[in-house]
Amino acid sequence: MLAVKPKWSDLLHLFFPHNCVGCGTDILDSKHNLCLHCTNELPVTNFFLQAKNPVEQIFTGRLPIRNGAAAYFFTKESLLQHLIVQLKYCGNKEVGYYLGKLVGNFLATSPLYEQVDLLVPLPLNPRKEKKRGYNQATALCDGIASVWPREVIDKNVIRKVYTETQTHKGRISRWQNMDGVFSVLEPARLQNKHILLVDDVVTTGATLEACGSEILKIPGTIISIATLAYTI
Ligand SMILES: [Zn+2]
Repeated sequence: MLAVKPKWSDLLHLFFPHNCVGCGTDILDSKHNLCLHCTNELPVTNFFLQAKNPVEQIFTGRLPIRNGAAAYFFTKESLLQHLIVQLKYCGNKEVGYYLGKLVGNFLATSPLYEQVDLLVPLPLNPRKEKKRGYNQATALCDGIASVWPREVIDKNVIRKVYTETQTHKGRISRWQNMDGVFSVLEPARLQNKHILLVDDVVTTGATLEACGSEILKIPGTIISIATLAYTI
């Protein structure tokens, strides 16, 4: 009888099971948080290759950006929504890093973003960040930078005021509410740089607009925007 010698990785898997965050299958290696089937299920926008895409159009006349894109379409009750809930409300920072890598793969294959110098995560309300333990945009940036090497500058652009939930307010009052919320501690670190501002979801773009406007006050700065998801 042939004795089957177990591989070390099989033993590890037995004692430290690793499951897909999407469907729960354990048929995936430790480097992945999503199985191939679930990864292929995510609705790709292809915006990273497309100038004047819907994300860029959000900022037309509001914030002069060089390029802007989201990796996936966000819809309710979808796998992507489940992943974002994991990232934002279930303490699953690792899934943010993994999704960041997926965003980074799109950036790495797009000629439109080649000139980007560094990554800046959209700062979170300090209270929210304390409660969550991390900023989900920073987790995304770290994942992006792991496959598309760029410096991540965190905690230089800061969010000063705690704003209440703004879901029920219109675009104009949202913008007014955002005025003066962001500031930059060391502008010299961003001067003359092309900055990719990163967030999880873009909807009205009000927060990205307010943060981007503050950064653009620094001489020589160029802003591009990348998000994980775009809400239709
Ligand atoms: Zn899966």
